[in-house]
Amino acid sequence: MTFKPNPLRLFLILSIGLLTAATPMSGQTERKITQLADGVYEIEHQDALDGFASGNTTVIIGERQVFVVDTCFLPSAAREDIAQIRQWTDKPVTFVLNTHFHNDHNLGNRAYMDAFPALTIIAHAETKKDMDMFGPGSESREEKGTAFLQQMQDTGKTRDGRVLTAEEKTEIKNALARRISVMQELKQVKFQTATLTFEHDFAVDIGNREVEVKFLGRGNTAGDAVVYLPKEKIAIAGDLVVYPIPYIYDGYPTEWVRTLQNLGQLDANAIVPGHGPILHDKTYIALVGDLLSSAVDQMNTELKRTRPAMFQTLDEVKGAVDLTAFRQRFAGNDKDLTVAFDDMAANLVKVVFEEASLR
Ligand SMILES: [Zn+2]
Repeated sequence: MTFKPNPLRLFLILSIGLLTAATPMSGQTERKITQLADGVYEIEHQDALDGFASGNTTVIIGERQVFVVDTCFLPSAAREDIAQIRQWTDKPVTFVLNTHFHNDHNLGNRAYMDAFPALTIIAHAETKKDMDMFGPGSESREEKGTAFLQQMQDTGKTRDGRVLTAEEKTEIKNALARRISVMQELKQVKFQTATLTFEHDFAVDIGNREVEVKFLGRGNTAGDAVVYLPKEKIAIAGDLVVYPIPYIYDGYPTEWVRTLQNLGQLDANAIVPGHGPILHDKTYIALVGDLLSSAVDQMNTELKRTRPAMFQTLDEVKGAVDLTAFRQRFAGNDKDLTVAFDDMAANLVKVVFEEASLR
């Protein structure tokens, strides 16, 4: 039997023990480029098959300049993108925008800065704060992940004592081997933060092409930026939208609902998610909004019936929030996606409770 790596399942094994907040997996197994309009491309990166995700990059080419949205995880992948951009155009990349602070969207910044020294890297002010806090420590945090995998291999068990299946053991063994080269690369990363922050929407003309930069509200993080091309009707959503299973391990669920409504109001017929393939209508955005608002509403109903969150524990209230009605709508009959959905849903309830505790 040939071994088929399964990044999604490995992510779940990792997430059980690591509680890492920056590894959404679309299960993407190869690099893929899609042309959205003349001079507008989406690059879906291969998720590193070892617990590392890599966000999508969007390349917007104007008559004078190139605007890039997100720079992915591995600098080597960012350099591959830069080589590709140079095949598309001889115009320089003058703007990079980071949609949020998770490092699977910005560790490639340095590669762009090296290639285009006049580059401006844009992020929401809150995103820059978080990038400054978490960007430079990326490598040592990933080392903890490697150590955790090593420990699972040594003991044959997960951190909570469950014995690993033969398939999981094989995946962990292979992942450890692959992580070595990734870690080597991460050790050489000099983190490059944003150089220009924004708090209010603005637009830039890169040469017969207008690029709008928007903050539609908090959601996945405190500074989620959205890029919108009004003429081409393309919206680039970052991890506010992750397909096929939303990435809700942190964030602001109540506000996220409104932010997705704002996103839905943009006149767009192509939406680039932070991970996964391009969406051609707003059905999925509405579904994610429904999931979030259902979790928030059920939690509020329970807290109203009992006591405010500050007087309770998650264990006392989590049973009152039932999201199984959404499982089939997100995961269909796919077993791995179902496991991923259930893992995300359990975390969503936790995030909703934590948000309620801030009242
Ligand atoms: Zn991401």
